[in-house]
Amino acid sequence: MTFSLHGIGVSGGYAIGRAQVYSQDRLEAPHYLLRPEHLEVEVARFSAAVAAVRAEMLSLQAHIPEGAPAELSAFLNVHVLILNDAMLSEAPKRRIHSERCNAEWALAQQTEALIAQFEAIEDDYLRERRNDVRQVADKVLKELMGHPGHAPLRPALEGESILVAHDLSPSDMVLFKRHDFAGFITDLGGTTSHTAILARSLSLPSVMALHSARAFIQDGDWLIVDGVAGVVIVNPDVAILDEYRLRRNQWQLEQKKLRRLKTSPSATLDGLEIELQANIDLPGDVGQARGENASGIGLFRSEFLFLNRDDLPSEDEQFEAYRHVAREMVGRCVVIRTLDVGADKSVRWLTDTSVNPALGRRAIRLCLAEPQIFLSQLRALYRASHYGQIKILLPMLASLTELDQALGLIATARGMLRAEGIPFDEETPIGGMIEVPAAALAAEWFAKKLDFLSLGTNDLIQYTLAIDRTDDTVAHLYDPLHPAVLALIDHTLKIALKLGKPVSICGEMAGDPKLTRLLLGLGLTRFSMHPAHILTVKQQVLRSHVGDLAPLARKLLRAGRPERIQEYLEQINR
Ligand code: PEP
Ligand code: MG
Repeated sequence: MTFSLHGIGVSGGYAIGRAQVYSQDRLEAPHYLLRPEHLEVEVARFSAAVAAVRAEMLSLQAHIPEGAPAELSAFLNVHVLILNDAMLSEAPKRRIHSERCNAEWALAQQTEALIAQFEAIEDDYLRERRNDVRQVADKVLKELMGHPGHAPLRPALEGESILVAHDLSPSDMVLFKRHDFAGFITDLGGTTSHTAILARSLSLPSVMALHSARAFIQDGDWLIVDGVAGVVIVNPDVAILDEYRLRRNQWQLEQKKLRRLKTSPSATLDGLEIELQANIDLPGDVGQARGENASGIGLFRSEFLFLNRDDLPSEDEQFEAYRHVAREMVGRCVVIRTLDVGADKSVRWLTDTSVNPALGRRAIRLCLAEPQIFLSQLRALYRASHYGQIKILLPMLASLTELDQALGLIATARGMLRAEGIPFDEETPIGGMIEVPAAALAAEWFAKKLDFLSLGTNDLIQYTLAIDRTDDTVAHLYDPLHPAVLALIDHTLKIALKLGKPVSICGEMAGDPKLTRLLLGLGLTRFSMHPAHILTVKQQVLRSHVGDLAPLARKLLRAGRPERIQEYLEQINR
């Protein structure tokens, strides 16, 4: 019988194959009471299980297959850290004593308590980490119960296989990488889960958050994974299968063609050079940026160095991270944004009591309120500037007074380094993000004081349209083509051009190939996006003639009504 399941398409494309159901059945922890004289033996049994799992994880880490995504090692690290955390590796021992129970039960109780704490966290990214805790605890439980590891994956069935799993941990991904799956689907996983992040970097068609795929799909069922629509079709009939085979073949051809664009210069038909840069979150992402031949790093979201930890990264730790990226990009520019925490990116050391954190003390506001944190980052950035082409980017600017204060602290950091005789690049450019409508409207005054501008359209849209970008219920109102948004972008581009200041877009709009030609028509020549989008955007650049697009883009700006805007967009993309 044919049926379909709907989830979130986290990585585009189509895959067709037979289901290979990955057995990860959760084990029920047995519960029994122990005599006091047996408790120490039980504690030792627990410690041995933790040690065995740790050894397995370290061995996996040492044998990451070539070509595995850069993030994999970092994610395995997270699992080792979770395992080493006293809340998981020590607290169950205390429970064994206090509850006089067996190790499995003590671990299961402690895991539930930890997960309940994660459930209460508002931040989506941190809340998702409960799955990592569960995955690590399950490994220890299996070891205790004499079922180390998962059931091994069988060799792929004839033809292409689709992996069907309840959930996949980073270490499952290591195994997964050794098999040749055409795609995968999972019951769990939100858009910010580690598995989703890995799926994107593997560029395999995948659908997550299907809830009950494992329950409804049998080993060997025919599956179509539509990673574009986020749909899985189970046992499709011949007509559907034929249709999707066609789509898949077209998609595969397009992917092959795209790879060939990697080394071609990024220029329009009328000879305009277009910079296609990469957005990265962690120093390890720089490999993927280089892999796609990014012309630079247009946005390094430095705040990721500050997340998932209780303390602040030291100046030296930051310096190493920034220097690493600068060196890896050998001579290409690396735009590093100063700390942009607050709102959806919460850090443990910051107790934010704002009623509306997106409008609260976040990003540059926070840095100005905590000058020691800001100065330590600025010093690290300037120290790293000695080793590559670093540019500093200030987020969330809204008033010129803030900009003056930030420039004052920048001068202080430079003065300190000079006095200490530490070498740095005196000419390091300072840029500002235009992501608050006030900054876009006042772009002229900001641009005069800065070396470059970067349009953060994710926040610019959020603040212009008064739509919380983290709120599902208003997600449908998030509209990059709203005339007000386009007017602010256009105004900023014109000001930058008039004053001869470089300007880029580093929000999601820059990586959307449907918008590339419109943005080119509006005069944008510098795009920064997730590395996975660079080649698709380059494909659009290569078939564009800016001289022809400009008048159409002007018409679209004046169109006003959404249906007229869509008509012009179709014309632009034709
Ligand atoms: C933006 O707001 O467009 C941006 C690039 O920054 P972030 O998504 O990190 O807020
Ligand atoms: Mg932003």
